[in-house]
Amino acid sequence: MNYQALAELLFPNVTDTAESLEARFPIRQLPDGAVVTRMAPSPTGFVHLGNLVQGLTAERMAHQSGGILFLRVEDTDAKREVPGAVEVLINTLKHYGIHFDEGASIDGDNGDYGPYRQRQRAAIYHVYAKKLVSEGMAYPCFCTEEELAAMREQQETNKQNTGYYGKYAMWRDRSIEDIQSQLAAGNPWVLRFRSTGSIENQFKFDDLVKGKLTITENDIDHVLLKSDGIPTYHFAHAVDDHLMRTTHVVRGDEWLPTLPFHIQLFKALGFRLPKYVHIGPLMKMDGTSKRKLSKRKDPELALTYYKAEGFPVEAVYEYIMTLLNSNYEDWRRANPTADPTTFKFSPKKLNPAGNLFDYAKLTDVSKNEIAKMDAERVYTLLSQWAEEFDPDFAEKLKANPEYATSILAIGRGGKKPRKDLATWKEAKPYMGFFYDEYLETPVFDERFDNATVCDVLKRFLDSFDISDDSGIWFEKVKTITGEIGFTTDMKAYKADPSAFKGTVADVSTFIRVAVTGKTNSPDLYTVMQILGYDRTVERIRSAISSLS
Ligand code: GLU
Repeated sequence: MNYQALAELLFPNVTDTAESLEARFPIRQLPDGAVVTRMAPSPTGFVHLGNLVQGLTAERMAHQSGGILFLRVEDTDAKREVPGAVEVLINTLKHYGIHFDEGASIDGDNGDYGPYRQRQRAAIYHVYAKKLVSEGMAYPCFCTEEELAAMREQQETNKQNTGYYGKYAMWRDRSIEDIQSQLAAGNPWVLRFRSTGSIENQFKFDDLVKGKLTITENDIDHVLLKSDGIPTYHFAHAVDDHLMRTTHVVRGDEWLPTLPFHIQLFKALGFRLPKYVHIGPLMKMDGTSKRKLSKRKDPELALTYYKAEGFPVEAVYEYIMTLLNSNYEDWRRANPTADPTTFKFSPKKLNPAGNLFDYAKLTDVSKNEIAKMDAERVYTLLSQWAEEFDPDFAEKLKANPEYATSILAIGRGGKKPRKDLATWKEAKPYMGFFYDEYLETPVFDERFDNATVCDVLKRFLDSFDISDDSGIWFEKVKTITGEIGFTTDMKAYKADPSAFKGTVADVSTFIRVAVTGKTNSPDLYTVMQILGYDRTVERIRSAISSLS
């Protein structure tokens, strides 16, 4: 077979050469050890936690080494593409602090190694397709769906491996005349790789996460170009990551089964193989067993979920870092205020089997992160969240920023800041009572009759002085406790509750419920200081009248 003639026949319009592409995308001038890596998502409109796990791994490896992180949009599957998905992708990654040095962006592409959207790179793939054909390493296949289905059926009956290989590779050695007549008839074709591998052969391979792997050679003549001339993932991966001068491929381990083919393809193309960082899946506990997080079953897989719940970006980032590197938590304990980018990230510390996603842990991390923020920052982030997800609350917050900030300052600062909030969504239930419109009607503990509660509230009103300090304020509460025959001796009460009508805690709760509408609230003295004399008194009075 004259492969050169076949190459001309299949790609008559391709005049560019691999050499000219090499020159157009030169080796990057970067310091030794600089990692060039990428995120290469498909624009399906769904950005998930796995994207963030891979994105952060790639981002840390690139930027920690003085290298480059770029974004390549893998849009070869037009059927799966959702309009606007590229924008969603870019905005979401930006929201989580993943900064790309080059690649696809909202206003187009930036960087010298583009285009960064695969559909715009068809001409580039065809240069290498033509080259492979001219060297006898690829050939056109005119098999129909029916022929392929029949082949599979026969392989299954014979209990053989399925796929287009060996004697089943019907078009591997067809004459140029056969090919010409199919082309003349206008029949569709795909371009296949001519594999010289054998499943009898194995070799060792080092993955940065999975460690030493034993790989079986690929013997399948995989498709390189689909019938519309658009490449498969495999071919695009090899061409793009070579020309974009990727040194490390960070991707999900669902690509491991086709890694043997990728290694073979890089070799056939004369490309230097990048290093691979195959990341395991995110799993969750389902009853007593683990399973992969699923798009269908688990809303928490979508990154939009965390935004809508109001997990601060810092919290999600911090949590993912604890998942990725087991020593991150110890480092954080030793460096509580350090910028997370000063942590020495290592892909070798990733769990090869993937990670268990623990929502409760994320919540804890988030409580810590929010507790570390000052009230001004909490106010800013909470208002931003509310603007999008609870506009009514946002309006209240923004009507009086000083008031909102003073509420958010409760229990903040000091050695042991309170950890009331894990998400911004929790803020309204926590602090809504400070706004009259959100105040709930007080409901008092049914174990006490209305007269007793009223008595406490009236006595409190009689003694209430907004200028009291918290010590005096509490002394007054204790005095009322004694006056109505309740006890301040919690130990004695615990030993024999029947000996007492109630305790100082019950008395405080009556007042708390009257003022906040809730049995749980931040420090009641501080609450009254923020509400001020008039509003406190008004709330207590209205509770009294609802009881009488
Ligand atoms: N488009 C592929 C995916 O979304 C990218 C895999 C890779 O990073 O190479 O899975």
